[in-house]
Amino acid sequence: MPMTPNFYSVNEAKKPEGNRVHHDNSACPPGRDIPANERLDGRGGYRLCDDCKRLNSEGK
Ligand SMILES: [Zn+2]
Repeated sequence: MPMTPNFYSVNEAKKPEGNRVHHDNSACPPGRDIPANERLDGRGGYRLCDDCKRLNSEGK
């Protein structure tokens, strides 16, 4: 299971508050779209992204 340390995008802060998420699964498509230079470590106080949640629950 490609768990990865929590990260989020520097651009998350520009989104509406309810849409801001962090990622913890390296197979997550929206997470993979975030270039390495736009990633910040941690959760940023945001909820876990739905794709990560689904992948984690499927054991991927
Ligand atoms: Zn994600």
